[in-house]
Amino acid sequence: MVEPQEVTEAECVVVGGGPAGVVLGYLLARAGLRVVLLEAQADFNRRFRGDTLAPSVLDYLDQLGLADEILNTIPHTRARAFQWHTPKKTYTIARYDKTSAKHPYYALIPQALFLPHMVKLAAAHPGFEVRMRAKVNQLLRDDTGRVCGVRHTGEGGQREVRARLVIAADGRNSKVRVLAGAQTTQLGASLDLLWREFPRRDGDPALSGLQLFGHPLGTIAVLNQVDHWQIGFTIEAGSFPRLREGGAGPVVAALRTSLPWLGDRVDAIADPAEFTLLPVRITKVDRWYRPGVLLIGDAAHVISPVGGNGINFAICDAAETANRIAGVLLDGGPDAELDAACAEVEARRRPPVQAEQERQVRIERGSAARVRRGLASPAPVLRLVAAVKPLATFFGSLNAKGLMAPAAPADVILRRETQV
Ligand SMILES: Cc1cc2nc3c(=O)[nH]c(=O)nc-3n(C[C@H](O)[C@H](O)[C@H](O)COP(=O)(O)OP(=O)(O)OC[C@H]3O[C@@H](n4cnc5c(N)ncnc54)[C@H](O)[C@@H]3O)c2cc1C
Repeated sequence: MVEPQEVTEAECVVVGGGPAGVVLGYLLARAGLRVVLLEAQADFNRRFRGDTLAPSVLDYLDQLGLADEILNTIPHTRARAFQWHTPKKTYTIARYDKTSAKHPYYALIPQALFLPHMVKLAAAHPGFEVRMRAKVNQLLRDDTGRVCGVRHTGEGGQREVRARLVIAADGRNSKVRVLAGAQTTQLGASLDLLWREFPRRDGDPALSGLQLFGHPLGTIAVLNQVDHWQIGFTIEAGSFPRLREGGAGPVVAALRTSLPWLGDRVDAIADPAEFTLLPVRITKVDRWYRPGVLLIGDAAHVISPVGGNGINFAICDAAETANRIAGVLLDGGPDAELDAACAEVEARRRPPVQAEQERQVRIERGSAARVRRGLASPAPVLRLVAAVKPLATFFGSLNAKGLMAPAAPADVILRRETQV
């Protein structure tokens, strides 16, 4: 085997600079650990990613002393309700006014801005190092088979990071998950999503930011992204080739009917292939950890964009992981203690993830059935929720904080901040 150009020692190596990896990297560095974050891409400028930070996650950032600064410096929009529009009526299905005393709204903060901001905060701690264009392709193992680091490509050829714990935060197609031998099971695949950006113009309506527009061809999600609109078209899983055969006409007509204010911006679409296709998948993993490696975020559980909570679940995983492992790594506790901490992360995080995934499977099956039948209105139960305001408030709280309350930061993370 080719010898690595460079070997680095750390207490923890985090693979993947998405929300799970970046937030965890920050928390561990803040706790005083030596942590290396490896990101395969050259930057954090992803398009079409979940960027809807829930009220409970904003409260968590507040506990870390970060929320005000993030909300004051990063351009974003705020959604106080989730609405479903049909040509005849608007249904307010979830209201977020009772979700948090300080942040009763979802903040739509583009990952392209949020992630580098968190990396900058992490880099203020001496133990933190980030490597971009660092693609992990191998797990290192000791004589007992325990994972003890990773090998990655990057500038200067192959490099190694040796660490007591490898965190796989490398997303839905996790390479580390495959290398660790974890088995995945697909729970649901009823819908696909087509995404496209449209520039915002003066005179566009002041939509809250979290909107669905029902149309017989599919449901249209409209996300307000400050300088542009992110439009998602929900279609039945596997129906994209059929849609493409029909040409751009039906898609353009659906957008024209549901979002007439987009006007000539829509006419420019010549082919449905101009949309980015996201196969909506819901996946579970048999076990989140193996000796020396722990899976978190989408690597451990692909969450559907339905409900818009993938980023929130990723951050909840990071919060729980930091709480469980930081003390053990700082104290140099034995491997058995580290393994027990990883098991505890899974024990705490799996139940809410499972509950959310089961809910998403139910919603997606229902949505796919309604798309098949060409129905534009929400399901009867949602129409009932919208008709009774307290029910919409309850539904908002359930969605926005019920399953997604990150564990409060442990003392080991909070107490160090003053020492930087
Ligand atoms: C197209 C799309 C649209 C989405 N829309 C929404 C939405 O509207 N609302 C919502 O809440 N969620 C949405 N999601 C889901 C949400 O973005 C994810 O749940 C969330 O980003 C998961 O965070 P993560 O950190 O676990 O993984 P990711 O955000 O996927 O981050 C993983 C990172 O690992 C890096 N990586 C991968 N392989 C390697 C490797 N071998 N070595 C080093 N680095 C590697 C990747 O480049 C990436 O930066 C969407 C996802 C996609 C793909």
